[in-house]
Amino acid sequence: TDQPRLPEMAESESELEFESTLRPNRLDDFIGQEKVRKQLDLLLRAAEIQNRTPDHILLAGPPGLGKTTLAMIVAEETGQALRLTSGPALQNAADLAAVLSSMVPGEVLFIDEIHRMARTAEEMLYLAMEDFRIDIMVGKGAGAQSVPLELSPFTVVGATTRSGLLPAPLRDRFGFTAHLEFYQDEELERVLTRTATLLELVSEPGSLAEIASRSRGTPRIANRLLRRVRDYALVHGTDISHEAVAAALQLYDVDERGLDRLDRAVLDTLIRRFRGGPVGVRTLAVTVGEEPDTVEAVVEPFLVRIGMMARTQQGRIATPEAYEHLSIPLPPL
Ligand code: ATP
Repeated sequence: TDQPRLPEMAESESELEFESTLRPNRLDDFIGQEKVRKQLDLLLRAAEIQNRTPDHILLAGPPGLGKTTLAMIVAEETGQALRLTSGPALQNAADLAAVLSSMVPGEVLFIDEIHRMARTAEEMLYLAMEDFRIDIMVGKGAGAQSVPLELSPFTVVGATTRSGLLPAPLRDRFGFTAHLEFYQDEELERVLTRTATLLELVSEPGSLAEIASRSRGTPRIANRLLRRVRDYALVHGTDISHEAVAAALQLYDVDERGLDRLDRAVLDTLIRRFRGGPVGVRTLAVTVGEEPDTVEAVVEPFLVRIGMMARTQQGRIATPEAYEHLSIPLPPL
């Protein structure tokens, strides 16, 4: 999974454990994404009635919105085994052949960051998804032979932050593409209430809503911020209070609107270095010293959503809201 970047809160082993203990296992426990939930439910139920493996599913959207969780739910709901891999791990056809040839019938194969798979692996995957068959090369040089291998039916769940980067032939192999949206604050509050209950935390009324509103519409960030507030509360011997929320989020540079340091750096650069734009997102990324992929997949969708950045034909521009948020006077017209 592409990680939403919160530099001061680098992912650690226990962080991953923490996330997995909070994962809902069933579709009914998955909060928000109403539309996607209904679509998935129908797809899975129809497959069950027909006693076949569900169609291949593509999950598209920014990081941390629950793509991995949904893949796990698909396996759980269908009672099938789950295999996890990722695009970067499939650097050639042999890598994919090794995975496919060792799967059990009906298995759910989760391929995270599927847009980063090698070309040769991609071509093998088309055939596998369509005909449950692959051709593997046996031998070397002039004596090399292509040997067909039949596979048992299985379901691919692909995840991507950039569905636009998927080649059309691959996109076409998915029977269903789910577009995950940022969560509403009220939904994030429900995610946090669930987490707080699981962690047996006591919270002041309204404090979870406060964290929710500063979580960039992203459950993973909401849970992570709650954990930092929990730390603060623990050390200062308080509940999850408004004061704990304010102090902990200030410490970790998350502002009232949920912007982190990188978000603010991008806006600041856009306004001060590029006079508010338009400027290409890659140029912007390089100027702040960040991976273009991160700025494109993580920073930009959020800033656009909250109306501080806009996309134009010529590039990205800062909106008046951005100037206001950073307390920079608007340039004269
Ligand atoms: P990516 O989309 O980049 O794959 P992710 O979607 O894999 O990221 P997850 O790891 O599935 O994100 O979710 C991150 C955390 O947020 C998990 O701990 C999960 O429990 C929680 N979470 C995500 N979506 C929901 C949801 N709809 N309801 C409750 N918890 C959620």
